[in-house]
Amino acid sequence: MESNNKIAIVTGGSKGIGASIVKELANNNYTVILNYNNSEEEARKIAQEYNNVFIFKADVSNYEEVKNLVDFTIEKFKKIDLLVNNAGIDLIKTFNETSNEEFKKIIETNLFSVFFLSREVSKYMINQKSGNIINISSVWGSVGASCEVAYSISKGGINSLTKALAKELGPSNIRVNAIEPGIIDTDMNRSLSQDDINCIISDIPLERIGKPEDISTCISFLENNTYITGQIIRIDGGWIS
Ligand code: NAP
Repeated sequence: MESNNKIAIVTGGSKGIGASIVKELANNNYTVILNYNNSEEEARKIAQEYNNVFIFKADVSNYEEVKNLVDFTIEKFKKIDLLVNNAGIDLIKTFNETSNEEFKKIIETNLFSVFFLSREVSKYMINQKSGNIINISSVWGSVGASCEVAYSISKGGINSLTKALAKELGPSNIRVNAIEPGIIDTDMNRSLSQDDINCIISDIPLERIGKPEDISTCISFLENNTYITGQIIRIDGGWIS
């Protein structure tokens, strides 16, 4: 199916920040391939709301499944204009209690996925001589978090990947940027109590935690501005200075 619309892949698009990004793009007439892994019901619900959203199940930590996702997109739509690497998991544990398996899982899910997808997609973007890759990192990728060392490593890796890849792909007219959210109201933070949240808010100059839309509107901004690349854009209400 050839499409005049721009074609976007959003990983982890079933809920939270990813779902908001899918809706933002679908509302702006993109054809969106919503990748999910476990949340099939949520993914199907979004696809029912938008006839320009197509769902595809893949565990993005698995190279073969990533390849299937990219092959599906190219076979069906012939091109990829935008890749949003959003899928991710967190782990709150002291460094000493973090097992080898937990470390491997978080690095494979949060970082290998970005490496696999960016490499597979950029092959097509280089031929097209255009493209945009946006990685969802975290403030902890820049400043590090106590009891989230493994998560911080995974996001720090995304930041390095973003800066290096932007240099390599710039001459092919492909931009690579990352967004570093602060604390956003999604399932990822459901384990925090209201007291924990209030304590965090007391350190945030804008006096609230973020909404998924605070992140998804930046995706449109990075699509529209074609002179930004290699940047790590922090969206945290002024929390981390
Ligand atoms: P969320 O509501 O827990 O959503 C996480 C998403 O990642 C889900 O859609 C999930 O899909 C997907 N996912 C996880 N493992 C996957 C895998 N192996 N393959 C494919 N998809 C996978 O969390 P969120 O807050 O929206 O997180 C989105 C991104 O923002 C993450 O990268 C996170 O690190 C980052 N972030 C979040 C915050 C925050 O405060 N919320 C702050 C900084 C950065 P399924 O449910 O379908 O498996």
